[in-house]
Amino acid sequence: MDIEKEKKAIERLKAFEPECEPYYLCYSGGKDSDCIRILAQLAGVKHEVHHNLTTVDAPETVRYVKSVGAIIDKAYYSDGKQKTMWNLIVNKKIPPTRLIRYCCEELKEHGGKGKMKITGVRWGESKSRKECKGIINIIGKSKTMQKKAESESVEYNVNRQGGLILNMDNSENRRFVENCYRTTSTLLNPIIDWTDSDVWEFLHYYGCDSNPLYQCGFKRIGCIGCPFASYSMRYKEFGLYPKYRKNYIRAFDKMLLARNQAGLTNNAKWDTAIDVFKWWMNEDINQLSFFDEE
Ligand code: SF4
Repeated sequence: MDIEKEKKAIERLKAFEPECEPYYLCYSGGKDSDCIRILAQLAGVKHEVHHNLTTVDAPETVRYVKSVGAIIDKAYYSDGKQKTMWNLIVNKKIPPTRLIRYCCEELKEHGGKGKMKITGVRWGESKSRKECKGIINIIGKSKTMQKKAESESVEYNVNRQGGLILNMDNSENRRFVENCYRTTSTLLNPIIDWTDSDVWEFLHYYGCDSNPLYQCGFKRIGCIGCPFASYSMRYKEFGLYPKYRKNYIRAFDKMLLARNQAGLTNNAKWDTAIDVFKWWMNEDINQLSFFDEE
């Protein structure tokens, strides 16, 4: 295990700890979020472990996050009704896709507003992460934030989304973060520079069993049917969890009705919910026969 990386992650957690309130620790139930959960305990910083329920989490994941004592947060519409993947698909009148990624924003990222959040984001997860994530990420309002940062001698970069990246743990940066996290979305990524093997070695050293789905061959823990997962992964998931596939198809059915009522054009030539499902999976009819008939 890389002791230096562990020490550094603990220092980061201590350095940016808010004075009067706990960190909001974003806990997905995956291996990276287990690392930040254990690191926050080792650092002795005030924190609350939160899992934002997407309603398309695997049942094993929901059981696992409950077993570690995470607080389960749900998303709600303004009338008090719970937001689910199924009603979002109907309300948005389009399935979630890699380009139209409304579900993360509505179901996953809504929690912890005005709180300093800890995430298990790592550069090693994708190339684009290296360009747009740092030890601290301040999301949005770039011009205002840039002016403020410059006036306080903060060292920062701007990412493609216009957010600020801070990679230095100096007193100016710490003061800046302490003063702005309540009004912005501010994320601390203490294991940003960890590799997959750093993560696994750390978890084994501290005796963390991890989400049981890893023992079933899952490489990543996420939502069932997530459009960001590989095709083979999505097929595997829908084979293992046929009820979720049925729920998606049922939601697509209602979505088609909503689209008709709203007079939307049918460029994708969707006649049935199965057409939508095939389009969504981006595969042809032969591959769809992989699934049992309804
Ligand atoms: S399905 Fe994918 S894009 Fe949607 S909330 Fe889940 S992880 Fe985010």
